[in-house]
Amino acid sequence: MYIDYHVHAIGHEHRLHTEENIMKYIEFARINKVKEIGFADHCRYLYEKLDLNLYKKVQEKVNDVSIKVGLEIDYYPDQHQEIEKKVNFFDYDYIIGSVHYIGKWMFDSDKEKKEYENWDHDKLYEKYIALVTESARKDYYDILGHIDLIKIFGIKPVKNRPENIFAPYLKEISKTGLVVEINTNGLNKPVNEIYPSFPIIQMLFDNNIPVTLSSDAHHPEEVGRDLDKARELALKAGFRKIPVFTKRRIQYECL
Ligand SMILES: [Zn+2]
Ligand SMILES: [Zn+2]
Repeated sequence: MYIDYHVHAIGHEHRLHTEENIMKYIEFARINKVKEIGFADHCRYLYEKLDLNLYKKVQEKVNDVSIKVGLEIDYYPDQHQEIEKKVNFFDYDYIIGSVHYIGKWMFDSDKEKKEYENWDHDKLYEKYIALVTESARKDYYDILGHIDLIKIFGIKPVKNRPENIFAPYLKEISKTGLVVEINTNGLNKPVNEIYPSFPIIQMLFDNNIPVTLSSDAHHPEEVGRDLDKARELALKAGFRKIPVFTKRRIQYECL
């Protein structure tokens, strides 16, 4: 049985935030052996498209799957007040912090892919992980999302291996106590690899950084997708426990 904390109930506005829609996700949680599902939609939908109290109503009707409430909040270095407002908006079980932007560039968007040509890729990896590390030091988040998302299109640094660029930053992240995701959605992207890659998962273990497993599902049938592969990598690295979040407090269970 799995825990999947990175699930988008409305995807990219593919669906409405209704009980009926949430129930579809619960159906697939059952099918794909997810005993605890956490919804963490993109924060840009928070005020107008999401009704986070719906999850409590659905939980009242569902006994066999535990439902947690999260949010995936983008990190922007210059938006402290806006991020704080989102963090304080609801009594979440956890908050995922994700870097999807470098400056104004949404580097994981297919439409903005050309911008990679304007970067030295070693410097780009360093800039990206520095931003992730900066986000971890703020008091906003519980979990860091897809921490090597910068590889999404398969573009890798040339002079150094990604794990070598990441190494000093992971030491800093370990001091924050944050959890990092092993996110299987990279398998569905051009890079065709789980986020993060195995050498980085190994370094998470070596630095005592806990991990959670997640699908980053944007559709009901994607709940729990490939979590068996993520668990296998976590076990191979040495992990035996997985955090469970309730109202932003952690307890550990067997992986
Ligand atoms: Zn994301
Ligand atoms: Zn996501």
